[in-house]
Amino acid sequence: MNGEQYLADTSPGKREVHDLDPEMEECHIDDIVSAGNAEPFRSQSDANAAGFDDCRNSSDHVAPRVSERMKQIGGALINSHRMNAWRVP
Ligand SMILES: [Zn+2]
Repeated sequence: MNGEQYLADTSPGKREVHDLDPEMEECHIDDIVSAGNAEPFRSQSDANAAGFDDCRNSSDHVAPRVSERMKQIGGALINSHRMNAWRVP
């Protein structure tokens, strides 16, 4: 790595690009590097152009959107009196 901020996981079935600023613990960057599956990129769009999808842990924007969606779903379930759908039988 030499100034590149993005690291792509080239392992088959993954093909994801990770943002290293900040590096997310969930990405297991060390594992990717030690497996020899790391390919550095200077920009996310370069990595996308090379066929890598954005890592779902990398974006600050993903988590709030997901929790907002879960709140909507939870609210809908409360409204429909189906809260027990969340419980294990
Ligand atoms: Zn990642």
